[in-house]
Formats: sequence, structure tokens, C-alpha cells
Amino acid sequence: MADLIKRVLFIDRDGTLILEPEDQQIDSFAKLKFYPGALQYLPRIAKELDFELVLVSNQDGLGTASHPEENFWPVHHFVIDTFKGEGVVFAKEHIDRTFPHENAPTRKPGVGMLQEYFDTTQYNLAESFVIGDRVNDVRLAQNLGAKAIWLRNNDELGQNEGVEFSEEVIALQTSDWKAIYEYLKLGTRTGEHHRKTNETDIYIKLNLDGSGKADIDTGLPFFDHMLDQIARHGALDLTIKTKGDLHIDEHHTIEDTGIAWEKYS
Ligand SMILES: [Mg+2]
Repeated sequence: MADLIKRVLFIDRDGTLILEPEDQQIDSFAKLKFYPGALQYLPRIAKELDFELVLVSNQDGLGTASHPEENFWPVHHFVIDTFKGEGVVFAKEHIDRTFPHENAPTRKPGVGMLQEYFDTTQYNLAESFVIGDRVNDVRLAQNLGAKAIWLRNNDELGQNEGVEFSEEVIALQTSDWKAIYEYLKLGTRTGEHHRKTNETDIYIKLNLDGSGKADIDTGLPFFDHMLDQIARHGALDLTIKTKGDLHIDEHHTIEDTGIAWEKYS
């Protein structure tokens, strides 16, 4: 059975999908404005690129008198439904309700709500992104071992969130959804695939924008050499690890490596 390892876009809501009002709380339709370009470019990302979309939002004190649920959900559902109508479907929504002073592990940049994504048989966090407008979103990316796309539009916000993050975690800083779309589209010519049957167990990782680096091990030196040449002369980064039933003969190993590659390319 083929088994696809997913890449995720962890997307913030306020200041990212919709504009954040001065009082930082969207509890009425009068305060609702979509972030320019989000409704144009996130649907293209959803349609054209291969990411699982996940919403991650801190909603300080949601459900308390300061942020009543009856004001929150109608606007929230309107936002989610509007994106859904454009083909943007969030696989999950993770909404933390704590206040900053509680220092809850579930609150961004904590990963308490996001443990399932650390399952490396399901998700590839190193090639996943957090898209958000605050330092806490950048720090969330760091805590996940993902990359940050910092939709940097208001540095006044979150001043007290500290600046403890490594610059290396930031893949892109922009205030423009179009730039996010273009960046992700360019960087998406990579992928990996795992195929396991009774005869063979094959792992393939490919970057079409690579530099010709190959890491090939099929157990058949001549086949390794042929695949190595494809990578080198095609300037692809290619990893292929095949464990096949070579005690019978080489044909499953060669055939299934080809099938696995074709399946995913
Ligand atoms: Mg935000």
C-alpha cells in the first residue's frame, strides 16, 4: 500500500486570514475584514499545492465574559465557510482559549494541541510551514521543527512575546499573500513517497530543483549507478532506498522502484 507523508500549513487566523482590529478581538461582524489577498491566494494554494491545511489560533479567554462564545462562533463560522466556498478546507481547527498569563502548553507558541503532527509516519514537519503574523507564530514554527512564513504586517502587535527564535526558521517575511503563494509554489517541487509490499519496501525522496545529489541504495550496484546518473545529469536531488526480495531475483526490486517513482512523480 502506498503511504503518503503529508506536509502541513499551520495557518493563523487573526492578522493572517482576517485583519486584527485594534482591540485584538473579533467578536462582531462589524469588525470583520478579510486580509487582502487571502481569499484570492489561499484557494490557489489549496488547489494547486499539496499541503494539509490546519488552523491554529489563540483566542484569549474564549468562553469567558471578556470573549463570549456567542459573539465568537458566528463570525468564526462565517470566515471558515467563506474560505470553504473557495475550496479552502481546514483538516482541523486548533483553538486555544487560555490567557497569556496562564502560560498554557496549548497556547501558541506551545505545541500542546499539535502533538499528532509529530508522528513522522504521517507528517513531514521539516517541510511544513506556519503562516502567521506574530512572533509567536514564528516561534511555533521553531517548536514544531517547521519553517515560518511571517506575514509581517503589524510589529506593534505581540511586542511582549519575546524575540527568542532563530532567524533560520524564517523561510519568508512578507505582508503579501501573493508572495506566499509564489514562494510555496516554487518550493513545492519536492516530495517523498514510501511504498511497501510483500516483495519490496521502497522510500523515495525527490527535489526537482536540486543540485544533482543522489543517495541511492537498491541492493543492485548497476541499478544504483543508473539512477545516480539520472540525478546527476538531471540536477535532481534523489534519495532511493529499496529493500527487495533479491534472494529470488532482481526483477521485483527494479520493477517496483520504477512503479514507486512513477506513482509519485
Ligand atoms: Mg495572528
